[in-house]
Amino acid sequence: MLDAIPARPGAYGLEIVLDRPLAIETARLRGSLPAGAYAYAGSAHGPGGLRARIARHLKSEKRPHWHIDRLTIAGRVTGIAFAENADGSTASECEIARALAALPDAAVPLAGFGSSDCRRCQAHLIRQPGAGLPVSAITDIGAMRYLAVPQAAVSRGAS
Ligand SMILES: [Zn+2]
Repeated sequence: MLDAIPARPGAYGLEIVLDRPLAIETARLRGSLPAGAYAYAGSAHGPGGLRARIARHLKSEKRPHWHIDRLTIAGRVTGIAFAENADGSTASECEIARALAALPDAAVPLAGFGSSDCRRCQAHLIRQPGAGLPVSAITDIGAMRYLAVPQAAVSRGAS
């Protein structure tokens, strides 16, 4: 499924399900994420673009570097929405985060999560009560494409 994701710069949203609560303890962030459905907004501008970044998110074995790594190690990525910057898409990670936060009953579970470099958003991680698929609901904001993630792709660490 990674073949469907361009190896070019862009922004994306991830749907993640945590089956168990997750304690977050980093130098600047401390708290607990309850079990449930989450959505995360990010952008990829490094080598390999969106494809390389999303491949990393789907791997369950990795050394945690970003906040989101702790969540994708402990939880399951169930869906991805993405847009290449080159497509003229207006989607940025902050716009995605804001759209996710505007969904009904959405909440910021841990201020600062994923948004250390951002002064505009409270967090780039949004909690969605129930079993919602929040990322699929925001694809209209910037001509984003949505892909459901086959769960086999997660467990074998798709690459
Ligand atoms: Zn932001």
